Amino acid sequence: MVGGVAVGGGAPVVVQSMTNTDTADAAGTAAQVAALADAGSEIVRITVNNRAAAAKVAEIRTRLRDDYAVAVPLVGDFHYNGHTLLREFPDCAEALDKYRINPGNVGRRARHDANFAAIVQAAIDHGKPVRIGVNAGSLDPELLDELMDENAGRPDPVEADAVVREAMVQSALRSAEAAEELGLPHDHIILSCKASRLQQMVAVYQDLAERGDYPLHLGLTEAGMSSKGVVATSAALSILLHQGIGDTIRASLTPEPGGDRSQEVRVCLEILQSLGLRSFKPEVTACPGCGRTTSTVFQELAQAIEARLDERMAVWRSERPGVAELKVAVMGCIVNGPGESRAADIGISLPGTGEEPRAPVYVDGAKVATLEGSGLATEFMAMVEQYVERRFPAVDSGSANGGAA
Ligand code: SF4
Repeated sequence: MVGGVAVGGGAPVVVQSMTNTDTADAAGTAAQVAALADAGSEIVRITVNNRAAAAKVAEIRTRLRDDYAVAVPLVGDFHYNGHTLLREFPDCAEALDKYRINPGNVGRRARHDANFAAIVQAAIDHGKPVRIGVNAGSLDPELLDELMDENAGRPDPVEADAVVREAMVQSALRSAEAAEELGLPHDHIILSCKASRLQQMVAVYQDLAERGDYPLHLGLTEAGMSSKGVVATSAALSILLHQGIGDTIRASLTPEPGGDRSQEVRVCLEILQSLGLRSFKPEVTACPGCGRTTSTVFQELAQAIEARLDERMAVWRSERPGVAELKVAVMGCIVNGPGESRAADIGISLPGTGEEPRAPVYVDGAKVATLEGSGLATEFMAMVEQYVERRFPAVDSGSANGGAA
Protein backbone atom coordinates (compact mmCIF):
# COMPACT_ATOMS: atom_id res chain seq x y z
CA MET A 1 0.00 0.00 0.00
CA VAL A 2 1.11 3.55 -0.74
CA GLY A 3 -1.12 5.83 1.28
CA GLY A 4 -4.53 4.27 0.68
CA VAL A 5 -3.61 2.90 -2.75
CA ALA A 6 -2.92 -0.81 -3.24
CA VAL A 7 0.27 -1.47 -5.22
CA GLY A 8 1.40 -4.90 -6.42
CA GLY A 9 0.08 -8.30 -5.44
CA GLY A 10 -2.37 -8.36 -8.35
CA ALA A 11 -3.82 -4.88 -7.69
CA PRO A 12 -4.71 -2.85 -10.80
CA VAL A 13 -1.78 -0.97 -12.34
CA VAL A 14 -1.57 2.47 -10.67
CA VAL A 15 -1.02 5.77 -12.48
CA GLN A 16 1.66 8.00 -11.06
CA SER A 17 2.94 11.47 -11.96
CA MET A 18 5.43 14.05 -10.75
CA THR A 19 5.19 17.78 -10.17
CA ASN A 20 7.57 20.29 -11.72
CA THR A 21 6.90 23.13 -9.29
CA ASP A 22 9.36 24.31 -6.65
CA THR A 23 8.28 22.29 -3.61
CA ALA A 24 9.18 25.25 -1.41
CA ASP A 25 6.22 26.98 -3.08
CA ALA A 26 3.58 25.11 -1.08
CA ALA A 27 0.58 26.83 -2.70
CA GLY A 28 1.82 26.26 -6.26
CA THR A 29 2.82 22.66 -5.57
CA ALA A 30 -0.48 21.83 -3.86
CA ALA A 31 -2.35 23.32 -6.85
CA GLN A 32 -0.38 21.20 -9.30
CA VAL A 33 -0.74 18.02 -7.23
CA ALA A 34 -4.50 18.64 -7.10
CA ALA A 35 -4.60 19.16 -10.88
CA LEU A 36 -2.65 15.93 -11.48
CA ALA A 37 -4.95 14.03 -9.10
CA ASP A 38 -7.97 15.54 -10.82
CA ALA A 39 -6.63 14.33 -14.17
CA GLY A 40 -6.47 10.79 -12.75
CA SER A 41 -3.06 10.47 -11.10
CA GLU A 42 -3.39 8.08 -8.17
CA ILE A 43 0.03 8.79 -6.65
CA VAL A 44 2.01 12.03 -7.07
CA ARG A 45 5.74 12.47 -6.52
CA ILE A 46 7.27 15.76 -5.44
CA THR A 47 10.93 16.59 -5.27
CA VAL A 48 12.32 17.15 -1.77
CA ASN A 49 15.67 18.57 -2.73
CA ASN A 50 16.57 20.96 0.09
CA ARG A 51 15.56 22.26 3.52
CA ALA A 52 13.16 24.85 2.08
CA ALA A 53 11.31 22.09 0.24
CA ALA A 54 11.29 19.66 3.17
CA ALA A 55 9.94 22.42 5.43
CA LYS A 56 6.87 22.80 3.19
CA VAL A 57 5.82 19.18 2.65
CA ALA A 58 3.47 19.02 5.64
CA GLU A 59 1.88 22.30 4.55
CA ILE A 60 1.34 20.89 1.05
CA ARG A 61 -0.44 17.91 2.60
CA THR A 62 -2.64 20.25 4.67
CA ARG A 63 -3.43 22.50 1.71
CA LEU A 64 -4.42 19.48 -0.39
CA ARG A 65 -6.83 18.39 2.32
CA ASP A 66 -8.26 21.79 3.22
CA ASP A 67 -8.25 23.65 -0.11
CA TYR A 68 -8.82 20.82 -2.59
CA ALA A 69 -10.24 17.87 -0.61
CA VAL A 70 -7.53 15.75 -2.24
CA ALA A 71 -5.99 12.80 -0.39
CA VAL A 72 -3.71 11.51 -3.16
CA PRO A 73 -0.59 9.77 -1.75
CA LEU A 74 2.57 11.88 -1.96
CA VAL A 75 5.99 10.44 -2.68
CA GLY A 76 9.13 12.34 -1.72
CA ASP A 77 11.91 12.20 -4.31
CA PHE A 78 15.26 12.26 -2.50
CA HIS A 79 18.75 12.56 -3.95
CA TYR A 80 22.05 13.22 -2.13
CA ASN A 81 20.57 14.60 1.12
CA GLY A 82 17.49 12.51 1.95
CA HIS A 83 19.20 11.09 5.04
CA THR A 84 19.56 14.54 6.60
CA LEU A 85 16.26 16.02 5.40
CA LEU A 86 14.19 13.12 6.74
CA ARG A 87 15.96 13.38 10.11
CA GLU A 88 15.76 17.17 10.37
CA PHE A 89 12.13 17.42 9.20
CA PRO A 90 10.13 14.65 10.89
CA ASP A 91 6.85 16.32 9.86
CA CYS A 92 7.98 15.94 6.23
CA ALA A 93 8.86 12.28 6.83
CA GLU A 94 5.43 11.75 8.34
CA ALA A 95 3.45 13.69 5.72
CA LEU A 96 4.91 11.69 2.83
CA ASP A 97 3.41 8.31 1.91
CA LYS A 98 6.54 6.86 0.30
CA TYR A 99 10.21 7.77 -0.07
CA ARG A 100 12.11 7.35 -3.31
CA ILE A 101 15.79 6.51 -2.86
CA ASN A 102 18.19 6.55 -5.80
CA PRO A 103 21.01 4.20 -4.73
CA GLY A 104 23.35 5.97 -7.15
CA ASN A 105 22.85 9.29 -5.36
CA VAL A 106 23.14 8.58 -1.65
CA GLY A 107 26.88 9.07 -1.26
CA ARG A 108 30.05 7.13 -1.90
CA ARG A 109 31.65 4.14 -0.15
CA ALA A 110 31.04 4.05 3.64
CA ARG A 111 28.84 7.13 3.43
CA HIS A 112 26.68 5.38 0.84
CA ASP A 113 25.78 2.63 3.28
CA ALA A 114 25.28 4.98 6.23
CA ASN A 115 23.11 7.43 4.25
CA PHE A 116 21.10 4.62 2.70
CA ALA A 117 20.56 3.09 6.15
CA ALA A 118 19.42 6.46 7.55
CA ILE A 119 16.70 6.80 4.89
CA VAL A 120 15.57 3.21 5.40
CA GLN A 121 15.49 3.79 9.16
CA ALA A 122 13.27 6.86 8.64
CA ALA A 123 10.93 4.69 6.54
CA ILE A 124 10.85 2.03 9.27
CA ASP A 125 10.26 4.63 12.01
CA HIS A 126 7.38 6.27 10.12
CA GLY A 127 5.95 3.04 8.68
CA LYS A 128 6.44 4.15 5.05
CA PRO A 129 7.25 2.14 1.95
CA VAL A 130 10.30 2.95 -0.15
CA ARG A 131 10.88 2.93 -3.88
CA ILE A 132 14.42 2.00 -4.74
CA GLY A 133 14.66 3.93 -7.97
CA VAL A 134 17.71 3.17 -10.08
CA ASN A 135 18.31 5.40 -13.08
CA ALA A 136 20.71 4.67 -15.94
CA GLY A 137 21.86 8.30 -15.82
CA SER A 138 22.91 8.12 -12.17
CA LEU A 139 23.97 4.51 -11.78
CA ASP A 140 26.09 3.68 -8.73
CA PRO A 141 29.62 4.19 -10.22
CA GLU A 142 31.33 1.83 -7.77
CA LEU A 143 29.02 -1.03 -8.64
CA LEU A 144 29.41 -0.31 -12.35
CA ASP A 145 33.22 -0.27 -12.03
CA GLU A 146 33.12 -3.55 -10.12
CA LEU A 147 31.03 -5.28 -12.80
CA MET A 148 33.06 -3.75 -15.65
CA ASP A 149 36.30 -5.05 -14.09
CA GLU A 150 34.75 -8.46 -13.57
CA ASN A 151 33.59 -8.52 -17.19
CA ALA A 152 37.00 -7.45 -18.51
CA GLY A 153 38.61 -10.36 -16.65
CA ARG A 154 36.37 -12.94 -18.32
CA PRO A 155 37.55 -15.06 -21.22
CA ASP A 156 34.42 -14.04 -23.15
CA PRO A 157 33.46 -10.51 -22.03
CA VAL A 158 29.98 -9.27 -22.91
CA GLU A 159 29.22 -5.87 -24.43
CA ALA A 160 29.40 -2.83 -22.15
CA ASP A 161 25.66 -2.25 -22.59
CA ALA A 162 24.90 -5.66 -21.08
CA VAL A 163 27.14 -4.82 -18.11
CA VAL A 164 25.26 -1.56 -17.57
CA ARG A 165 21.94 -3.43 -17.62
CA GLU A 166 23.27 -5.95 -15.11
CA ALA A 167 24.55 -3.13 -12.90
CA MET A 168 21.10 -1.51 -12.91
CA VAL A 169 19.38 -4.74 -11.91
CA GLN A 170 21.99 -5.56 -9.27
CA SER A 171 21.85 -2.03 -7.87
CA ALA A 172 18.09 -2.40 -7.33
CA LEU A 173 18.20 -5.95 -5.96
CA ARG A 174 21.23 -5.43 -3.71
CA SER A 175 19.67 -2.25 -2.31
CA ALA A 176 16.38 -4.03 -1.65
CA GLU A 177 18.23 -6.83 0.12
CA ALA A 178 20.16 -4.29 2.21
CA ALA A 179 16.92 -2.48 3.12
CA GLU A 180 15.36 -5.75 4.27
CA GLU A 181 18.45 -6.58 6.34
CA LEU A 182 18.02 -3.20 8.02
CA GLY A 183 14.47 -4.18 8.96
CA LEU A 184 12.28 -2.73 6.20
CA PRO A 185 9.49 -5.23 5.48
CA HIS A 186 9.65 -6.97 2.10
CA ASP A 187 6.21 -5.62 1.17
CA HIS A 188 7.36 -2.04 1.83
CA ILE A 189 9.72 -2.10 -1.15
CA ILE A 190 9.02 -1.14 -4.76
CA LEU A 191 11.71 -1.18 -7.43
CA SER A 192 12.32 0.78 -10.59
CA CYS A 193 15.16 0.81 -13.11
CA LYS A 194 14.54 3.61 -15.55
CA ALA A 195 16.47 4.21 -18.73
CA SER A 196 15.91 6.55 -21.65
CA ARG A 197 16.56 3.96 -24.37
CA LEU A 198 13.55 1.73 -24.97
CA GLN A 199 15.37 -1.56 -25.63
CA GLN A 200 17.59 -1.11 -22.60
CA MET A 201 14.67 -0.21 -20.35
CA VAL A 202 12.54 -3.15 -21.49
CA ALA A 203 15.40 -5.65 -21.08
CA VAL A 204 16.20 -4.39 -17.58
CA TYR A 205 12.61 -4.66 -16.37
CA GLN A 206 12.21 -8.13 -17.87
CA ASP A 207 15.31 -9.19 -15.98
CA LEU A 208 14.14 -7.53 -12.78
CA ALA A 209 10.74 -9.25 -13.00
CA GLU A 210 12.43 -12.63 -13.42
CA ARG A 211 14.85 -12.19 -10.54
CA GLY A 212 12.55 -10.84 -7.83
CA ASP A 213 8.97 -10.48 -6.71
CA TYR A 214 8.99 -6.82 -5.69
CA PRO A 215 6.31 -4.57 -7.21
CA LEU A 216 7.78 -2.62 -10.12
CA HIS A 217 7.31 1.03 -11.03
CA LEU A 218 7.72 1.45 -14.79
CA GLY A 219 8.98 4.46 -16.65
CA LEU A 220 10.94 5.34 -19.75
CA THR A 221 12.92 8.17 -18.25
CA GLU A 222 13.45 11.43 -20.14
CA ALA A 223 11.07 10.23 -22.87
CA GLY A 224 11.06 13.66 -24.48
CA MET A 225 8.57 16.12 -25.88
CA SER A 226 5.42 16.00 -27.98
CA SER A 227 4.53 12.96 -30.04
CA LYS A 228 8.04 11.48 -29.72
CA GLY A 229 7.71 11.29 -25.94
CA VAL A 230 4.17 9.95 -26.06
CA VAL A 231 4.96 7.28 -28.65
CA ALA A 232 8.21 6.14 -27.02
CA THR A 233 6.54 5.93 -23.59
CA SER A 234 3.51 4.09 -24.96
CA ALA A 235 5.68 1.60 -26.83
CA ALA A 236 7.96 0.90 -23.86
CA LEU A 237 5.26 0.60 -21.22
CA SER A 238 2.94 -1.41 -23.46
CA ILE A 239 5.53 -4.09 -24.16
CA LEU A 240 6.05 -4.66 -20.45
CA LEU A 241 2.44 -4.27 -19.31
CA HIS A 242 1.33 -6.71 -22.01
CA GLN A 243 3.76 -9.22 -20.51
CA GLY A 244 2.22 -8.68 -17.08
CA ILE A 245 5.21 -6.65 -15.84
CA GLY A 246 4.59 -3.42 -13.92
CA ASP A 247 2.51 -2.27 -10.95
CA THR A 248 2.73 1.51 -11.22
CA ILE A 249 3.52 3.60 -14.29
CA ARG A 250 4.64 7.10 -15.13
CA ALA A 251 5.09 8.92 -18.45
CA SER A 252 8.18 11.13 -18.11
CA LEU A 253 7.15 13.67 -20.74
CA THR A 254 8.77 17.07 -21.16
CA PRO A 255 5.91 19.58 -21.32
CA GLU A 256 5.96 22.38 -23.88
CA PRO A 257 6.97 25.68 -22.22
CA GLY A 258 3.91 26.68 -20.21
CA GLY A 259 2.26 23.38 -21.22
CA ASP A 260 -0.10 21.24 -19.23
CA ARG A 261 1.68 18.90 -16.80
CA SER A 262 -1.40 16.68 -16.65
CA GLN A 263 -0.66 15.36 -20.13
CA GLU A 264 1.62 12.74 -18.57
CA VAL A 265 -1.35 11.47 -16.58
CA ARG A 266 -3.68 11.33 -19.58
CA VAL A 267 -1.09 9.35 -21.54
CA CYS A 268 -0.89 6.75 -18.74
CA LEU A 269 -4.67 6.47 -18.56
CA GLU A 270 -4.87 5.98 -22.34
CA ILE A 271 -2.16 3.32 -22.28
CA LEU A 272 -3.93 1.29 -19.58
CA GLN A 273 -7.31 1.68 -21.25
CA SER A 274 -5.96 0.80 -24.71
CA LEU A 275 -4.37 -2.34 -23.28
CA GLY A 276 -7.69 -3.28 -21.67
CA LEU A 277 -6.09 -3.23 -18.22
CA ARG A 278 -8.33 -0.53 -16.76
CA SER A 279 -11.31 1.57 -17.84
CA PHE A 280 -11.30 5.23 -16.95
CA LYS A 281 -13.78 6.74 -19.37
CA PRO A 282 -16.09 5.75 -22.21
CA GLU A 283 -14.29 4.80 -25.39
CA VAL A 284 -15.13 6.65 -28.59
CA THR A 285 -14.30 4.76 -31.78
CA ALA A 286 -13.92 7.25 -34.61
CA CYS A 287 -12.66 6.46 -38.09
CA PRO A 288 -9.73 8.49 -39.42
CA GLY A 289 -11.72 9.71 -42.43
CA CYS A 290 -10.59 9.41 -46.03
CA GLY A 291 -11.52 10.53 -49.52
CA ARG A 292 -14.97 8.99 -49.11
CA THR A 293 -15.96 11.75 -46.71
CA THR A 294 -14.85 15.25 -47.58
CA SER A 295 -16.95 16.95 -44.91
CA THR A 296 -15.66 17.47 -41.39
CA VAL A 297 -19.05 16.67 -39.84
CA PHE A 298 -17.98 13.38 -38.35
CA GLN A 299 -14.72 14.81 -37.01
CA GLU A 300 -16.64 17.60 -35.33
CA LEU A 301 -19.21 15.16 -33.99
CA ALA A 302 -16.57 12.79 -32.64
CA GLN A 303 -14.80 15.69 -30.95
CA ALA A 304 -18.02 17.12 -29.50
CA ILE A 305 -19.09 13.73 -28.17
CA GLU A 306 -15.73 13.01 -26.62
CA ALA A 307 -15.74 16.44 -24.93
CA ARG A 308 -19.29 15.98 -23.69
CA LEU A 309 -18.51 12.50 -22.36
CA ASP A 310 -15.47 13.87 -20.52
CA GLU A 311 -17.64 16.59 -19.00
CA ARG A 312 -20.40 14.19 -17.98
CA MET A 313 -17.93 11.66 -16.57
CA ALA A 314 -17.14 14.07 -13.72
CA VAL A 315 -20.66 13.35 -12.43
CA TRP A 316 -21.27 9.87 -13.85
CA ARG A 317 -18.09 8.44 -12.34
CA SER A 318 -19.44 8.73 -8.82
CA GLU A 319 -23.10 8.17 -9.69
CA ARG A 320 -23.11 5.44 -12.29
CA PRO A 321 -20.80 2.48 -11.66
CA GLY A 322 -19.53 0.79 -14.80
CA VAL A 323 -20.11 3.77 -17.09
CA ALA A 324 -16.40 3.86 -17.98
CA GLU A 325 -17.02 0.63 -19.93
CA LEU A 326 -19.32 2.45 -22.38
CA LYS A 327 -18.32 2.16 -26.04
CA VAL A 328 -19.46 4.78 -28.54
CA ALA A 329 -18.74 4.78 -32.30
CA VAL A 330 -18.75 7.79 -34.60
CA MET A 331 -18.01 6.71 -38.16
CA GLY A 332 -17.58 8.56 -41.43
CA CYS A 333 -19.29 6.47 -44.11
CA ILE A 334 -21.08 3.29 -45.09
CA VAL A 335 -17.90 1.20 -45.59
CA ASN A 336 -17.12 0.51 -41.92
CA GLY A 337 -19.71 2.76 -40.29
CA PRO A 338 -22.60 0.34 -39.76
CA GLY A 339 -20.27 -2.51 -38.69
CA GLU A 340 -18.38 -0.46 -36.09
CA SER A 341 -21.59 1.20 -34.91
CA ARG A 342 -23.25 -2.17 -34.37
CA ALA A 343 -20.22 -3.41 -32.44
CA ALA A 344 -20.36 -0.42 -30.06
CA ASP A 345 -22.94 0.06 -27.32
CA ILE A 346 -24.24 3.02 -29.26
CA GLY A 347 -22.94 4.23 -32.60
CA ILE A 348 -23.72 6.49 -35.49
CA SER A 349 -22.72 6.02 -39.11
CA LEU A 350 -22.58 9.36 -40.88
CA PRO A 351 -23.09 9.71 -44.62
CA GLY A 352 -20.00 9.86 -46.80
CA THR A 353 -19.74 11.98 -49.94
CA GLY A 354 -22.51 11.05 -52.38
CA GLU A 355 -24.39 8.96 -49.83
CA GLU A 356 -27.96 9.67 -48.67
CA PRO A 357 -27.71 12.52 -46.09
CA ARG A 358 -28.93 10.27 -43.31
CA ALA A 359 -27.17 8.81 -40.29
CA PRO A 360 -28.40 5.50 -38.87
CA VAL A 361 -27.95 5.06 -35.11
CA TYR A 362 -27.35 1.61 -33.63
CA VAL A 363 -27.96 0.64 -30.01
CA ASP A 364 -26.71 -2.70 -28.73
CA GLY A 365 -26.29 -3.88 -32.31
CA ALA A 366 -29.73 -2.91 -33.60
CA LYS A 367 -30.65 0.08 -35.77
CA VAL A 368 -32.98 2.25 -33.69
CA ALA A 369 -33.16 5.58 -35.49
CA THR A 370 -32.01 7.56 -38.51
CA LEU A 371 -30.92 11.13 -37.87
CA GLU A 372 -30.51 13.95 -40.35
CA GLY A 373 -30.21 17.71 -40.48
CA SER A 374 -28.31 20.28 -38.45
CA GLY A 375 -29.47 19.03 -35.03
CA LEU A 376 -27.91 15.62 -35.60
CA ALA A 377 -25.09 16.04 -33.06
CA THR A 378 -27.42 17.24 -30.30
CA GLU A 379 -29.91 14.46 -30.98
CA PHE A 380 -27.22 11.79 -30.97
CA MET A 381 -25.72 13.06 -27.71
CA ALA A 382 -29.21 13.01 -26.15
CA MET A 383 -29.51 9.37 -27.22
CA VAL A 384 -26.13 8.62 -25.64
CA GLU A 385 -27.28 10.21 -22.39
CA GLN A 386 -30.52 8.20 -22.41
CA TYR A 387 -28.55 5.04 -23.07
CA VAL A 388 -26.22 5.76 -20.14
CA GLU A 389 -29.16 6.46 -17.82
CA ARG A 390 -30.82 3.19 -18.77
CA ARG A 391 -27.76 0.95 -18.88
CA PHE A 392 -25.88 2.37 -15.88
CA PRO A 393 -28.52 3.30 -13.28
CA ALA A 394 -27.57 5.96 -10.74
CA VAL A 395 -26.73 4.74 -7.26
CA ASP A 396 -26.07 6.58 -4.06
CA SER A 397 -22.78 8.35 -4.84
CA GLY A 398 -21.30 7.24 -1.52
CA SER A 399 -21.49 3.59 -2.59
CA ALA A 400 -20.28 3.96 -6.19
CA ASN A 401 -16.74 3.05 -7.21
CA GLY A 402 -14.85 6.26 -7.88
CA GLY A 403 -12.57 4.81 -10.59
CA ALA A 404 -9.41 6.74 -11.28
CA ALA A 405 -10.24 10.13 -9.84
S1 SF4 B 1 -15.45 4.51 -42.44
FE1 SF4 B 1 -15.59 5.43 -44.48
S2 SF4 B 1 -14.89 7.54 -44.22
FE2 SF4 B 1 -14.20 6.41 -42.41
S3 SF4 B 1 -12.11 5.79 -43.01
FE3 SF4 B 1 -13.51 4.07 -43.48
S4 SF4 B 1 -13.98 4.37 -45.63
FE4 SF4 B 1 -13.15 6.31 -44.93
